[in-house]
Amino acid sequence: MMSNIRGLTFDDVMLVPGYNGIRSRQDVTTNVTVAGRTFEIPMISANMDTVTGETMANAMTDFGGMAILHRFMSIEENVAMFKRLKHPKKTGISIGIGEEALPRAEALISAGAEIICVDVAHGHSKEVNRTIRQLREKWGQHIMIIAGNVATYAGADYLSAAGADVIKVGIGPGSVCSTRIKTGFGVPQLTALQECRKVDRCIIADGGIKSPGDAVKALAAGADFIMLGGMLAGTDETPGEFMTRKNSDGSETKLKRFRGMASREAQEDFMGGMAEWKTAEGVAVEVLAKGPVKNVILDVMGGIRSGLTYCGALNIKQLQRKAQFMEITPAGFHEGTPHASGRLTK
Ligand code: 5GP
Repeated sequence: MMSNIRGLTFDDVMLVPGYNGIRSRQDVTTNVTVAGRTFEIPMISANMDTVTGETMANAMTDFGGMAILHRFMSIEENVAMFKRLKHPKKTGISIGIGEEALPRAEALISAGAEIICVDVAHGHSKEVNRTIRQLREKWGQHIMIIAGNVATYAGADYLSAAGADVIKVGIGPGSVCSTRIKTGFGVPQLTALQECRKVDRCIIADGGIKSPGDAVKALAAGADFIMLGGMLAGTDETPGEFMTRKNSDGSETKLKRFRGMASREAQEDFMGGMAEWKTAEGVAVEVLAKGPVKNVILDVMGGIRSGLTYCGALNIKQLQRKAQFMEITPAGFHEGTPHASGRLTK
């Protein structure tokens, strides 16, 4: 048995301020270049059916980020959606490892897709390796391959050796994920990122980012990109209709559905029901309407720019070199959240 290792996540640490020689947070850059492609912001919208369809993809790529379309639709619909995109070169497509995976990749690559995300719950697996190798054999360096999810150095190294350009990191931190409760497996996300960054590949921090501060910590821990699901859920650009619920005082609340791809609800919708030998590893929720996604993107990017100056870093690479994490106590965490007594007005 492996010995116990202490794992930390975003709320266990704070970044220690460092000397800043930068005049304004407008002077920092947030670019990230991967496999010859440059993105102006290190942000990716998650390939979940309640997060990234074409409208979200267009909004996220308009801001210079990356979007990855979900794959819970027919290959034909997926191709049609891809063809309607404003920035197809900045939008990825997803495949799994089943029979349909390569035909889906082939159809989308023929339609112009260059970013292929091989996405399964436990990416440190033989089938993912096989799929990456097949993609690379057929399309060479023309495509950028993202693969995951993993949460260990061994997992990241395995996918990198298979030929992935980008490793997606996160086992169990997601806001609608119940893998850790259902299986006992997972690695607290900050430690997972610090382990996976040891491979010479770009990494994506996928799951568990619930504030701009978490995004800064993820980047400082070694991520090149942050992937957001829950933070974008409920914005105008996500797929699905808004619902209105009446409150007991007569007022109304606007909500939208957001669900884990391994939730019972999603499996019933897309896999013709949930097999008896399986358990759901995700949940479905109704989230409050958040308005335009622009507000969330600007809030997160504002946090990242400010975070860079607290570290005295001009860019994300410098942040990663200079960042110093301090492990904190529950009292330190509490102190760091707004705690004035009184009613919050804004
Ligand atoms: P969030 O930003 O909401 O914290 O995390 C989003 C990530 O959660 C997704 O990108 C994906 O990796 C993960 N995820 C989505 N659905 C499920 C699910 O049903 N189960 C698990 N274990 N993870 C999920």
